[in-house]
Formats: sequence, structure tokens, C-alpha cells
Amino acid sequence: MSLKEQKLNLHLKRLRLPSIKENWGSHAGLATSEGWSYQRYLAELVDLEIAGRHCRRTERLIQESRLPKGKTMETFDLERLSLKDRRKVELLTEGLFAQNRDNILAFGTPGSGKTHLVTAIGYELIRQGSPVLFSSCVGLVQRLLQAKKDVKLNRELKKLDKYEALIIDDIGYVQQSREEMEVLFTLLAHRYENRSVMITSNLPFGKWEKIFKDPMTTAAAIDRLVHHSVILELNLKSYRLESAKNHMAKNPETQNPISE
Ligand code: ADP
Ligand code: MG
Repeated sequence: MSLKEQKLNLHLKRLRLPSIKENWGSHAGLATSEGWSYQRYLAELVDLEIAGRHCRRTERLIQESRLPKGKTMETFDLERLSLKDRRKVELLTEGLFAQNRDNILAFGTPGSGKTHLVTAIGYELIRQGSPVLFSSCVGLVQRLLQAKKDVKLNRELKKLDKYEALIIDDIGYVQQSREEMEVLFTLLAHRYENRSVMITSNLPFGKWEKIFKDPMTTAAAIDRLVHHSVILELNLKSYRLESAKNHMAKNPETQNPISE
């Protein structure tokens, strides 16, 4: 490599243009054989850089999001949803709801696909460049409680602001203390009209007093969540149960572990 070429590589590295650095040489050969103009050559390299950047950003956002692996729209069977919910989901995957700071509330029995569905929508947001964080309700509450003890709750809430959508999985699944629920309420009030939340729950609103302990706080939490929200009611048969049954129908020799 000539001195000039080495210098070019050094400058591209400093400018953080790794894809151009990797490809300017091979593309120069292509440009000659294909008869590209200078403009075309430059445009091809810049396109590569943009595509590479998008790819690296997406990978980083996926890493950071802690979204369950493999639970994407590609692996989600939309046919299981009602036509109405399918339409809603198709619109949600376009991501406008997060830009509008709307919420998604997914209700339904265990195994109906709530976690998979909100995770898949999370992946779609990331593809569009939006940061997302997945957390179990229990884990999130512990994190906030620790921050409160360290007198850093406000700072922690602001940290979470960088996520355009926060998935709170399984709210109400574990009975929590009043103190734990207070920080959850503070979080919901903080994100209200500011950033989206996507919540899954086995408990319908009628039973949310179990979560927030007193009627006033419960009403205030529901009111804020519902104000700008899309509600999905996945009252479907358990996918787990159904696929286990299908498996057994195909392999009758296996013992039936499911009692109905
Ligand atoms: P929930 O959160 O409602 O308890 P999950 O989302 O965890 O249910 O779903 C249970 C299992 O069934 C997961 O492995 C999930 O990937 C799968 N599953 C549920 N619904 C669907 C669906 N419509 N298409 C594909 N897999 C599904
Ligand atoms: Mg779940």
C-alpha cells in the first residue's frame, strides 16, 4: 500500500468511516470495470457506510434492550389473533404509537402470547432506530427501589427516558409491597405523555387494586395508562398448551403430561 493510501485509511479511521475504509479499494476496481462515474463511486461508498451504521446501531440497540431472543414478528403467528387485533398490531409495528408517546396494554391468560407480541413490536421499533428496554415488572421495581434507597430515583427515571418504549412484563404477577408499588406508580406518572410503556398483565383492570393497594392510586395509574393507549385482549388458548397437544397428537407414544 502506498503512503498516500495508508494516510487515506488513517483519516477514514479518524473520521469513523469503517465501511468506506474497508471498501474504497475493491470499489475502485469495480468502478473501473463497470465504468462508474466519480459521483457513482462516491455514492456507492457512502451508501455502504450508511447501511453499515444502521446495522451496527441496530445490533447495539438489540444488545441493550434485553428483549427475549427470537420473539420477533417473523416467528409470531398473527393468524391466532382476531381480525381486529391483527389490524391493530399491523399498525403498531409501524411505530407511530411510540412517536406519539402512546402506550400498549396487552392482557390475557398465561401463554396467550402477550410477552412474545410486545417483544416483537419492540424489535420493530429497534429496526426503525428507536431504543427499547425490556424488563420484568419485578426486576424493574427492584431497580427503582434500589435507586430510591440511594436517593437517585429521579436520575434513574431520567436514564429510562432514553428508551422510547419501556416494556414492563407481567405487571401484577407477583404481589408486591406498598413501597414497591409506589416506585412503579412514580415511574408511570413520570412517563405519562412523555415516553411509551408497553405492559403485559394476566390481571384485568378490575383486579389492579391488588397491584396498587388502594383505590385512589389504582384509579390514577389506570387513568394515566389508558389515556393514550392501545389495548390488546389476547384471550386465547395457551400457545404452549396447544403446541404440546399438537406434538402429542403427532407422537402418541409420548406420555400425556397435561391434565385439563
Ligand atoms: P404470555 O406472555 O401471554 O404468557 P408468551 O408470549 O410467553 O405468553 O407465549 C408463550 C409461548 O408461546 C412462547 O414460547 C411464545 O413464543 C409462544 N407463542 C404464543 N403466541 C404465539 C403466536 N401467536 N405465534 C407464535 N408463538 C406464540
Ligand atoms: Mg408473559
